[in-house]
Amino acid sequence: MLTIAQLEASRLDKVGYYSMTVMDFQRLQKQVIKRGLCTHCGTCVGACPNGVLTLSDPLGECLPQQIGECQACGLCYRVCPGKGLDWQLMNKRLFHSQPDPYLGCFKEIYLGHSLQPDLRSKASAGGVVTSLVSAALESGLAQRALLVGHQPDNPWAPQPFWAQTSTQAQSAAQSTYALVPVNALLGELDSMDGKAVVVALPCQVHGLRNLQKSRPKSAAKIECIIGLYCGINLYLQATLSLLARFGIKDLSQIQSLNYRAGSWPGRFEVILHNGQTHTLSKSGFNYLSPFYGVPRCWQCVDLCNEFADISIGDGWAKEDMNLGGWSVVISRTEAGVKLLASAADRLKLEKIDPELAKSMHAHSISNKKVGGLLRVHLTGGKAAPNYGLQPPRVGAARKAFERLNLLILRICATRPARWAVDRVPLKILDGFFTGLRTFWRRVSDKSKN
Ligand SMILES: Cc1cc2nc3c(=O)[nH]c(=O)nc-3n(C[C@H](O)[C@H](O)[C@H](O)COP(=O)(O)OP(=O)(O)OC[C@H]3O[C@@H](n4cnc5c(N)ncnc54)[C@H](O)[C@@H]3O)c2cc1C
Repeated sequence: MLTIAQLEASRLDKVGYYSMTVMDFQRLQKQVIKRGLCTHCGTCVGACPNGVLTLSDPLGECLPQQIGECQACGLCYRVCPGKGLDWQLMNKRLFHSQPDPYLGCFKEIYLGHSLQPDLRSKASAGGVVTSLVSAALESGLAQRALLVGHQPDNPWAPQPFWAQTSTQAQSAAQSTYALVPVNALLGELDSMDGKAVVVALPCQVHGLRNLQKSRPKSAAKIECIIGLYCGINLYLQATLSLLARFGIKDLSQIQSLNYRAGSWPGRFEVILHNGQTHTLSKSGFNYLSPFYGVPRCWQCVDLCNEFADISIGDGWAKEDMNLGGWSVVISRTEAGVKLLASAADRLKLEKIDPELAKSMHAHSISNKKVGGLLRVHLTGGKAAPNYGLQPPRVGAARKAFERLNLLILRICATRPARWAVDRVPLKILDGFFTGLRTFWRRVSDKSKN
């Protein structure tokens, strides 16, 4: 078996981590941004030691751009997860072991929820993420947490922020299905005392792990990375297009906006100052994915946030019990185990078999581990990220399906397609996508049996 040093040497510059050549922002621009490989995670901005990078429009296209003189240190390119990530090497570095092919390396897997009923009903699933963050802040394990909230005067506009109290953490409970470049704030770690926890999506965690390698001093301040499962992320335009369909022309009318309001799994809900409420079911909201999904997400192979210290997603195995939200919780590292232990009195946790964890997300795992990897290989060349993984062995039908899928996704992302879907009544889209979800569940239940 190769040592990490041998692996690193053998992969020198394969995905750009350890290149000794001069690298400036132009390289990131040419080899990642212009090729459509940017994940919009913000790591390059947070890593830049000279503060000369920013995001063009955090609520729009959200692409890195240069605003000062680049010193060509190459950090922005090295930490970027958009160009790919050496899966085998990262597993070796973090876990020293072979990963489960679908879930990654793990210690234990649970289904769980917060024991605080108001938090559980406010959160996106079981409120486990917020409970862990609160426990870290209250126990002194960490002094701040990097979270996603909303601009106080614009509840429709998400923004990353550092929470320092558990009240602030609770205000951020809920998933925001829109791009939020949280890693852009990581540069602030340098001037901060104490430890931090970070809540992040898989691409953001990939960037964070690269940063830990390249800037170990500031990254050492991160006590624990809580990773969210992620099927796909959307441009904020998706939300704005939905608001337009509800007839909301003036965004200052909005009093609150939630992507997972009400009882689990929750619904998209916007409440106006005049009391009017507009809603769309969670599965109905999925109609936006092909039209406004971030293209780079279709080439992602990480559903379960395999390189986080703890990974958390929806605990769908409990969905039919109608008892409130549940989360699936995967502890992966000692830091994750320690954080879970510090929150033991806030959480109900039931240990589960890894097979249950796989089967409850079977469709999404297949979409990433088979579909995602096939899409990477079908795209090929410079416009695809490099994970150092072989294409999955599948039949001609699945390959043909993914080819067609890629074509449909490219068409859906065009302006005329977006214009056309805006003309289809929401009721029809809601019914279709809710039916599609039920169908997928039946098919995957049958294949489980
Ligand atoms: C874009 C996106 C896609 C997802 N896709 C899936 C999926 O396919 N399958 C699945 O099982 N789960 C998915 N999740 C995770 C799921 O929505 C819940 O976040 C997860 O189940 C944890 O629930 P909770 O009640 O424990 O978290 P909560 O207690 O509600 O806490 C949620 C935390 O997430 C953080 N957060 C919210 N939005 C973002 C964001 N855009 N970027 C970074 N951090 C954010 C908040 O700061 C908060 O701390 C996705 C989440 C996001 C944001």
